[in-house]
Amino acid sequence: MFTDSMTDRKPRLRQLIGRLALLLIVSFCMLIASILGLSHSASQLAQESQKHLLPKIHEHQRAALNLERLEHMGDLVAYGGNISLIRKNALAAQVLAYQPSFELNESTQKIVRTTFDQIKQIRTVRQKLLILQGKPNNEGTQLNTLLRQEEQLRALWAEQKLDLFELQNRIISTATQMQTHTMQQISLTHQKILLVGGSGITILLLVLAAISYQLLKHLVKPVQKASNALLSIERGEDYHLKPARYEETSTIYHAVDRLAVNLKTLHDMATTDSLTSCLNRRYFVEQAELALQQAKQDNQSLALVMLDIDHFKKVNDTHGHATGDMTLKHFSQWVKQNLPQGGRLGRLGGEEFAMLLPSYDEAQAMMLADHIRSEIAEYSANTEEIPAITVSMGVRSLTAVTDKLDRLLSQADKALYHAKAQGRNRVVSYSGFINSASTGSGSSSPQKKSLPPLNRERP
Ligand code: GH3
Ligand code: MG
Ligand code: MG
Repeated sequence: MFTDSMTDRKPRLRQLIGRLALLLIVSFCMLIASILGLSHSASQLAQESQKHLLPKIHEHQRAALNLERLEHMGDLVAYGGNISLIRKNALAAQVLAYQPSFELNESTQKIVRTTFDQIKQIRTVRQKLLILQGKPNNEGTQLNTLLRQEEQLRALWAEQKLDLFELQNRIISTATQMQTHTMQQISLTHQKILLVGGSGITILLLVLAAISYQLLKHLVKPVQKASNALLSIERGEDYHLKPARYEETSTIYHAVDRLAVNLKTLHDMATTDSLTSCLNRRYFVEQAELALQQAKQDNQSLALVMLDIDHFKKVNDTHGHATGDMTLKHFSQWVKQNLPQGGRLGRLGGEEFAMLLPSYDEAQAMMLADHIRSEIAEYSANTEEIPAITVSMGVRSLTAVTDKLDRLLSQADKALYHAKAQGRNRVVSYSGFINSASTGSGSSSPQKKSLPPLNRERP
């Protein structure tokens, strides 16, 4: 049975599912927004690098290449043996030195200008030297001075080349750094997208798992339990439903409960007699049919006893109908207390009852019936609640597999009739009075034989 109170205010399952669905939608939106945001920043980064970074990298590469060219021209000016070649390369070096590619920063500009100044100086000295060397009567002193200057300038040029080499390396490494930094940023953004996507999907899966768990726990399982309870009710078995947490499932449980109560009431109304709480005639006959079939199947004995209170009309007439009713109640209680395990008592009508005694043979049934008869006579004589009564009984047991219930009942009834005829307050067996009719002995008292255990705990 479900022991929860309908008046308790319970949360609604709909609210829980609504909240979980909202959580799912919010998580999904956050995941999509984060992925879109990161993708946008990744594409912006790629665009930025195309727009600004690539030209910058190209500028650095051009500057590095031009530095190499400048160095080459400087070498031709410093070591070339042809005046026109020296002039041409010096001029080209001048054009190169003022290229916008060297406007990267001040230090680059400064080194390039210094380099060009040196190339200019070397050119001046070497031009003079080559012209002097070309004359047949050249002056030894002036030639020597120019040769010394050439040597000094070449030494300076060698140092300057080192500076140029360093500068070139710096420019290349700056360009490489810029490229690497951008690549790192792009790959970092991709990693972030993967991380956010992965964790977002994990969160979504967790939320989905939580929703499934909650639905399983608070909807599917309670419905399953309710359906099992309905099956138990249908089979007439007990069921147990724990208090439900949510209003909807609680309502289902209460409906199951009401159904069980109504079914029990209906079953009781259909099977029991309202005054005495014995089985009614229809249900007693139904149960007796089943017991008879079972006894035949198991090759077991079975006995039927018809009971009728003696002169009951007098009870009503003398003490009133209400006392008559009370007497019927007490009578059925006494009989039920003496019923063995599996035995049933039915009220066939008025003050007529019938006992069904599975596994009892005739002798055992006679003994039990006589015991009940004498107890009723004794108890009723010693109680103030009802008048003293006696009861007559007719016993019939199963003797052949061809025996039918209605035949057994009518034979027990005949035995009862004979008990009445012989003076009431006695037990007569059908086989006993048939035998006595044929032998003329008239004996019908129960023979001594041990009884199967009595159902003393029955109300
Ligand atoms: P006998 O010993 O031959 O059985 O006599 P009897 O008076 O018991 O039998 P009879 O059939 O003449 O009368 C039965 C009476 O039982 C008649 C009826 O008023 C009474 N009776 C039947 N049903 C009820 C009931 O539910 N309550 C009460 N108080 N009396 C009932
Ligand atoms: Mg009677
Ligand atoms: Mg009667």
